[in-house]
Amino acid sequence: DDIMTPEMRDARYVMHPLTDARANLQSGPLIIDRGEGIHVYDLAGNRYIEAMAGLWSVGLGFSEPRLVAAATRQMERLPYYHPFSQKGHGPMVDLAERLVTMAPVPMSKAFFTNSGSEANDTVIKMLWYRANALGQTQRKKIISRQRAYHGITIAAASLTGIPANHTGFDLPLPGFLHLTAPHYRRFARPGESEEDFATRLAAELEELILREGPETIAAFFGEPVMGAGGVIVPPRTYWEKIQAILERYEILLVADEVICGFGRTGRMFGCETYGIRPDVMVLSKQLSSSYLPISAILLNGRMFEPIADLTHTIGTFGHGFTGGGHPVAAAVAVETLRIIDERDLVARAAEAGAWMQERLATLADHRLVDEVRGVGLMAAVELTPARLADPAAWPTGALGRRAAQLLQQQGVISRAMGDTLAFCPPMIIDREGIDAIVAALRTTLDLCLKEATP
Ligand code: PLP
Repeated sequence: DDIMTPEMRDARYVMHPLTDARANLQSGPLIIDRGEGIHVYDLAGNRYIEAMAGLWSVGLGFSEPRLVAAATRQMERLPYYHPFSQKGHGPMVDLAERLVTMAPVPMSKAFFTNSGSEANDTVIKMLWYRANALGQTQRKKIISRQRAYHGITIAAASLTGIPANHTGFDLPLPGFLHLTAPHYRRFARPGESEEDFATRLAAELEELILREGPETIAAFFGEPVMGAGGVIVPPRTYWEKIQAILERYEILLVADEVICGFGRTGRMFGCETYGIRPDVMVLSKQLSSSYLPISAILLNGRMFEPIADLTHTIGTFGHGFTGGGHPVAAAVAVETLRIIDERDLVARAAEAGAWMQERLATLADHRLVDEVRGVGLMAAVELTPARLADPAAWPTGALGRRAAQLLQQQGVISRAMGDTLAFCPPMIIDREGIDAIVAALRTTLDLCLKEATP
């Protein structure tokens, strides 16, 4: 056992998420040992720019001492408590107050969970509970979109619209309906403007509602900008048209801000960037800079009041998690939000984001690039083998995988989603960091092209 490297021990003992468990990895997984600012280091001491902020989540970078101090203070004072049965603790109160008062639309309450999936799963249960509370026992179906990512528990994965998260799992569950993803370049018809495309998607929503029966639909879930589905920025007028239909049929709108929240799109919330007025907001990831797991659900009165009535009739709300609103995670979240305010990080992210979009756009005419898209500090570069001599030699995903691998060798960690590379660096990144990512990506694309050219 002494001679086994950590990579070999990983291969021996760890089952990885989102991984081919029989992949023939030549060098084992990349084991990350430490982090500093926008960088992480592997065991050999190689440095990488974490251009995905982990999983779209480490907003403040990998070495913020104030978050460590906040966690330590809370660990020493009260390392654990819970909110069940009329109990509570300070960090949860502080965080709930902060979130409810900073929400871009009036919100009544915050409910705490541990992950984005748990939060979305909880919202689905709340919607079913609300429908029962209102005596609308038919109103249980949920609409989301193809390519949406809302998480991975049985219900959240049903919301998710990515085939890889359904295949083999007998998902989605019945009653989860998926609409066309609002990806203009991919799904618009020839000659269709962005506005016309948005109108058509809103009509598709209305047709679905009428076909199913408006009285059977509880809610529409959407990420303001789709993240894991490929950083899909909605076409102009999309959200206002979708909202108009939802309002017409009294269907609630749930904004999944798990990626977009806390500055990612250049405003505090993605809802503000797109004029979305949600009934429910789901928050996680950058909420604590992911130093500890925590997620929050914000509910407006329309959502909360009927639920509260039924809890009063039954005598309890029969739902909650041991770790929900954990005091150490909540303390870290409160400190994260303080730092975002004090350092004006949303404005900084908007400025850095504009720079990142501008610099990435310079790659748009590369032979391997199909589309560069994004908003704020989240972006995607979609590759295509279409202009190569032998496109058939590159099945879907092969080019993306190879590019991500080569980019990693250039010292930049991105994420391949099919043939699309995503970029979502920590919000503390500066122009120099962005320039380094773009330069490494250009080198990578040239290397890829050379490999693919006989
Ligand atoms: N919602 C969105 C928009 C996400 O991007 C994610 C995770 O990437 C989730 C929900 C699920 O969050 P978690 O992985 O914490 O369960």
